[in-house]
This record gives sequence, structure tokens and C-alpha cells, in this order.
Amino acid sequence: MNDSYLIQVENLRKYFPIKMGFMKYNYVQAVEDVNFFIRKGETLGLVGESGCGKTTLGRAILRLHEPTSGKIFYEGKEITHVKMLPYRRKMQIIFQDPSASLDPRMTVGEIVGEAMDIHKLYNSKKDRLDKIQQLLTQVGLNSEHSNRYPHEFSGGQQQRIGIARALAVEPQFIVCDEPISALDVSIQSQIVNMLEDMQNELNLTYLFIAHDLSVVKHISNRIGVMYLGNIVELGKSYELNKNPLHPYTKTLLSAVPVPDPIKSRSRKRIILEGDIPSPMNPPSGCRFHTRCPYAVQRCREEVPEWREMAPDHFAACHII
Ligand code: SF4
Repeated sequence: MNDSYLIQVENLRKYFPIKMGFMKYNYVQAVEDVNFFIRKGETLGLVGESGCGKTTLGRAILRLHEPTSGKIFYEGKEITHVKMLPYRRKMQIIFQDPSASLDPRMTVGEIVGEAMDIHKLYNSKKDRLDKIQQLLTQVGLNSEHSNRYPHEFSGGQQQRIGIARALAVEPQFIVCDEPISALDVSIQSQIVNMLEDMQNELNLTYLFIAHDLSVVKHISNRIGVMYLGNIVELGKSYELNKNPLHPYTKTLLSAVPVPDPIKSRSRKRIILEGDIPSPMNPPSGCRFHTRCPYAVQRCREEVPEWREMAPDHFAACHII
């Protein structure tokens, strides 16, 4: 295990059982044999279509979903089967829909203070209140907001409350699960900038999940691309954008809008045929073979190996 890794996952799987009849089950194979690491202080972006398993993967790392098999390491210690309470403080999550993730019956102060209570992170009532007010100011809210309820705030402000709640326990690692996709475009960049400032100030490490490559490409040091439960390519953000290796990454990149109209006209958009297959019955071999324009017979029969194609640039494809 490399000392610079904060998180590492090995052969991680998460299947959800679906009852099909008396004593009969099928399984949604949401995450399949995933391997990667996240270095301390970096942002790893994770992209892919809706339903590809990004959120499940983020939650499995935090053990909000128990992994079906595989291993999770935090600072080199395996945490797959340990009691999570000590790690809950170090590993936090910011949810996609801020209005649904905040308890409407609790005041903002109670929401932000709740985790501080669980982990006993203050010396006195005054210390608790000071910390809550400091956190609210830190995320761009007013310290007097602590007595109000979530419904009194806009979507962007609610997400700021969610961020203050995550920061309240002084975490090292945060899963940002599509934190801006439910917000107005005008607010999105404010939240992204704030997350970046927090990262620099507090030396945080992020797993930043998004369905849109154009969102993660600016804020991520490295990007992982997910398709139907597999990570198919992972590399440095610049490298992945300039020199994508996997056919699916090329497809996603061809859909990212470019501001220059001349470049935009000369670019060829790759359109995938067919729908994304069901994770209950994924295709054999390479899971992308039913839609890949380069698929050959071997792709239908053999799962491609996850290999380091260039330094810090990994992919799984038979023809690379
Ligand atoms: Fe396409 Fe085959 Fe590569 Fe899969 S392994 S991405 S089907 S070429």
C-alpha cells in the first residue's frame, strides 16, 4: 500500500438482491470488480450515465451500502468489516438533493450540530454554538441562520447547509454525490468554487460524482469513467481529456460541448446505438460490447483486464 493513498478499493462488488418468486432471487450487479485508489488531498472525479453505479460505489466506500465482496482500505487499514463509527467522522458525504437530505423538523443549528454531538466535538454549550456559527459563516451563510428551518432557504443555500453538516466533524474525505446537479446553473459554479476553496484550506480529499464530464474535468486531478458497474478508464484529468483510450470515454468526450463554434462544427459526435443493458442481466465478456462500435468476437467472450496503459492511466479494453 502506497503511503500517499487515502482510499483504496480492491475488487469491490455490490449486488442488490431482487426477489423473483418463492425463494428465488436475481441480483442487480450495481458495482462489479472495481479497483482504484484516491491520493490524499486530490479530487477523483467519477462519471458515467445515470444508473451506471457511481452513487452505489460512493456509498459502498463509506459502507452506507455493505459491499458484497472485495476490500476497502482507509490510510492503509482495511475497513471492509470494521465498526464504522470512528471512520464516520473522517469520511463524509454531500448528497445530490439538498432538500431531501435535510430533516425539515430540525433547525439548521440542530442539523449541523447533530454529528458534533455524536462524536463529542465540543467542550461546552457555548463552544458548540460558536462552532456551528463559524461553520455557517465558512459556507457563506449567516450565523443567525442557525435558528431557521431548511424550507426557509433556496436550493443553493440548502446545499451550503449540507456542506456545513459534512464539515462539522472535521473530515478528511468527502464523497460529493452529484452535489450541483439539482441546483440552478447560476449557483453551480459558486458551490464548486466553495468546495475547491474548502479543499485547499482544510486539505480535504474528494470523490466527486457527476454524470457530466464537463463538470468534473475542471475540478478533478484524475477522472474515472464508469459503465454498467465497471470502471472502464481512469487517468489524469488532462490526459483523459486529451488522449482518451477507451471507446466509451471517447463517446462521452464527443458529447462535451466546446465553446469555439468552428471547433464544435468540425468535431464528430459519436452516437451510441441501443440502450444501456440491465445490470440484472449484464452482457458477457466486456459489458460495453453490445454498444461498442469496435467490438470483436473476443469482447463477447472475455472480460477485458484492468491494466496500466501508461503511467497513472488505466483502462480495460481488448483492443488498446
Ligand atoms: Fe469495445 Fe471490445 Fe474494448 Fe469492450 S473490449 S470497449 S467491446 S473494443
